[in-house]
Amino acid sequence: MQMTTRGHERPIYRDVKLNRQSLRHLFITEEASLDLLKPLFEACKRYYKQSLVITDLDISPIKTNSYQLIPRAKSAQFVASLVKGQLTRTTIYIAGTEGFMWDIQNLVLKSGIDKESIRMFEPISDTRRVICTHCFTVMDNINHRTTQCTGCQRMLEVQNKFSELHAAYSGVQLKFDPKQSPLVRPRPSSKLF
Ligand SMILES: [Zn+2]
Repeated sequence: MQMTTRGHERPIYRDVKLNRQSLRHLFITEEASLDLLKPLFEACKRYYKQSLVITDLDISPIKTNSYQLIPRAKSAQFVASLVKGQLTRTTIYIAGTEGFMWDIQNLVLKSGIDKESIRMFEPISDTRRVICTHCFTVMDNINHRTTQCTGCQRMLEVQNKFSELHAAYSGVQLKFDPKQSPLVRPRPSSKLF
């Protein structure tokens, strides 16, 4: 196992090494984390490998000798075709932000590949994806312990409970001290993660 979850707390990520039991190695990464994969690319020169790099640029997919560069909007479609028919002796390596990696893992699992064949790198940033437990709005790139929900406008406290399904941490309405004026609201300013 490369990653475990203790209860629903923040997942633990371990060092990722090339799985030499596999014949095929598939890499899926956001553009910002491409460098993380370089040691593995080098290590698997003699193996079959394919790579998808997801970019935020609004481009048509580009195929180079070493990878396919695809826009984020097309990632589900490309991941599905990448893993299609690769059920055995294949290892899938995923790098990027935490929400991205778990989204990709969920897509890969849907294709029938088991979790043991998936390796996730340490997330490239500490930003979290947060899901509001009141209106289920999902917000990406949250850097603070508190944040305002963009859906219901509640001030939320970001919990350490990670939902694998949503690839997100839950955000629960802040409880205010009743002695305080309701107009005095905590500001989302304390740097946390
Ligand atoms: Zn909300």
